[in-house]
Amino acid sequence: MAVEDQAFVTLATTDAYCMGALVVGKSLRRHGTSRRTVVMVSPNVSLEARRPLESVFDEVVQVDVLDSGDRAHLSWLGRPELGVTFTKLHCWTLVRYRKCVFLDADTLVMCNVDELFEREELSAAPDPGWPDCFNSGVFVFRPSFDTHTRLLEHAAQHGSFDGGDQGLLNSFFSDWAVTDIRRHLPFVYNLSANAFYTYLPAFHRYGHGAKIVHFLGGAKPWHSCSNPPANQDSRSQLDQYLSLWWAEHHSQSPPTVRKHSQLTPAL
Ligand code: UDP
Ligand code: MN
Repeated sequence: MAVEDQAFVTLATTDAYCMGALVVGKSLRRHGTSRRTVVMVSPNVSLEARRPLESVFDEVVQVDVLDSGDRAHLSWLGRPELGVTFTKLHCWTLVRYRKCVFLDADTLVMCNVDELFEREELSAAPDPGWPDCFNSGVFVFRPSFDTHTRLLEHAAQHGSFDGGDQGLLNSFFSDWAVTDIRRHLPFVYNLSANAFYTYLPAFHRYGHGAKIVHFLGGAKPWHSCSNPPANQDSRSQLDQYLSLWWAEHHSQSPPTVRKHSQLTPAL
């Protein structure tokens, strides 16, 4: 399969989430992805926030905000702001790509993860809060207008049990938990930045293999201090991930090799 047919996709509907999206793009480039990179932004995102995205991503695509408006379910989640994550569903309309990997704007790519494109729709890692559900911060999908329409119909008919995209996607791809183990991504592809709080020995055993770190929850790296204070002589694991995130944030964009090669005439 040609790699031009494949893309990493992220989303930002506010200038703050653009800071995260930029880090996603930079970290993908740093680790030499051979796939295209796409960021979806909503109309309210400022020009100042868009400009750096344009220098890092192959495509900046404007999409309308889609909000579940489901305050009741979102209040159970304690995250009233997540209705707009329905905007994520636009990723299914990117039909110029045959296969894509969606990454939340609050993820940090730690190494080359292009092997994710060997997986099929819908592949994702278990959610740490309820492992029979997948976490929708990292998933492999196939753009399709048909799937997009069916997702919207499903949303209109059944809503989302958490008010956000994750509840909807889990009820739409409801056989994920039991049907095909190849669609379960290893947890290291969507490692909650605070996993060491919940299962420290497993973190010691496997954490060094982290491939994508996900800062899920209300506190995002861009809300944090850019230089977390050293905690005596050992910094907490979360602080180390936050430092990596800020280092990527401050880094120069790695060169976009593919764009240059497109401009260079063949010898
Ligand atoms: N998002 C956004 N604007 C918002 C909220 C969310 O663009 O106001 C996008 C962004 O890509 C984000 C994703 O939706 O990473 C999911 O939201 P979040 O990461 O905050 O949810 P969590 O992973 O904490 O459950
Ligand atoms: Mn997230």
